[in-house]
Amino acid sequence: MKFALAMALLCASTAFAHSEGPQDRTLVRFQTTEAVKNYLRVNEIDVTGVDLKKGEVEALVNQEQLIELQGLKAAFQFTIPQTMLRGPDPEYMNPAEVELRLKEYAAQYPDIAQLRQVGESLEKRPIWALKISDNASVRETSEPSLLFNGMHHAREVMTPEVTMDVADYLLTRYNSDAKVRAWVDSNEIWVMPMFNVDGNNRMWTQDSMWRKNARGSHGVDLNRNYPANWNGCNGSSGSTWSQTYRGPNAASEPETNVMMELVKEIRPVFSISYHSYSELVLYPFGCRPMRTQTAEVVESIGREMGRLLSYTPGTPWETLYNADGGDIDWMYQEMQVIPYVLEVNSSAQGGFHPDYAKWRNKTVELNRAGWQLLLDRAAGPGIRGHVTATQVGLEIDVKDAAGKMIQIYKVNPDGTYHIVLNAGTYNLTFRSDRSVLASQQVIVNDRRVTLDKQF
Ligand SMILES: [Zn+2]
Repeated sequence: MKFALAMALLCASTAFAHSEGPQDRTLVRFQTTEAVKNYLRVNEIDVTGVDLKKGEVEALVNQEQLIELQGLKAAFQFTIPQTMLRGPDPEYMNPAEVELRLKEYAAQYPDIAQLRQVGESLEKRPIWALKISDNASVRETSEPSLLFNGMHHAREVMTPEVTMDVADYLLTRYNSDAKVRAWVDSNEIWVMPMFNVDGNNRMWTQDSMWRKNARGSHGVDLNRNYPANWNGCNGSSGSTWSQTYRGPNAASEPETNVMMELVKEIRPVFSISYHSYSELVLYPFGCRPMRTQTAEVVESIGREMGRLLSYTPGTPWETLYNADGGDIDWMYQEMQVIPYVLEVNSSAQGGFHPDYAKWRNKTVELNRAGWQLLLDRAAGPGIRGHVTATQVGLEIDVKDAAGKMIQIYKVNPDGTYHIVLNAGTYNLTFRSDRSVLASQQVIVNDRRVTLDKQF
């Protein structure tokens, strides 16, 4: 009775003005229950992270929400920890520092690193990506692409560090470490440390808890703006003030389009989007109860990554909440990428704003096992090749030895394909629309099979 009354009261709270600064917000830590999750969702409160091991969820509330919550003490268990609301440690890289570092790398390692401005933000800042590969200036279609990006969300200052560390590790060890040399020589590795460049600028200059891009005074949550399941499952908000505001339509934001154009061009086999915090490995899909068609591969690699990092693997709806319009859903559904979101750091480590001296190195070093697993896996079980054909719209039906359909793979526009599999025997049928061009049995062991075709 008391609870129902409280919920009715709370529903009115969505009309609050939300122009307050960070000093007006309070971090609240709840014991996670269905009622708490429902309350946070219905009131579109800024959920900042979870601790699945402790069964806790944290959220930022404004003054009015806090007053309401105090009246709900009987229904919800929560505390107000005195952590994390400090500003960002100035040691973390801002957009200018990221740009400078990338330019230095490109100048220092011209044979294996090429810097490209892949687009421009709403406020006309450049968005950069560094390609790392032997013969970095040319596209080598025999080499799989991988994409590592950071900073979808402006306040997640550890994520450019982890992403930049990929470049740092590979470039500085290329001449001395045979394993690194093999990764760089046999893949095209794209590193984009500072995706939401405007939002991060706003985080440094105006609001240490800024999350979205710089659209108007409110911003759009770039990771709810992709055209896959956009506004599909109550996993975003239509209210401009909400932290998960999805934008007026799918792909409304220039940054979203920059990411989509890059992915369309390079067709990554794997990607990681770095976020913070919660110590999670997330894979598609964001909407309950959707799972990928190739979950056996997608989820087993995700679980392995979770094991290596001691992060909890799962879909967003299993581990956090429904999330629609996210980049990993779009990458998987439309571009056949096997994509992960890594939520680095924990609340105890400082949430969005960990102490740099204490946590920066630990975090980037821990996370190496994650992206390195994907570099290894790109050479592991699977089939890659190049199809030369006069026909267009080529597809490959992949069936297992028992004849069960595993995947219908769309050959990339440049004729390349890369199907990640577990070891086993498969039957591949190359098709153009309904007409079969060729069928072939392929035995996949622990190394990738190369299979080029000409029709
Ligand atoms: Zn995030």
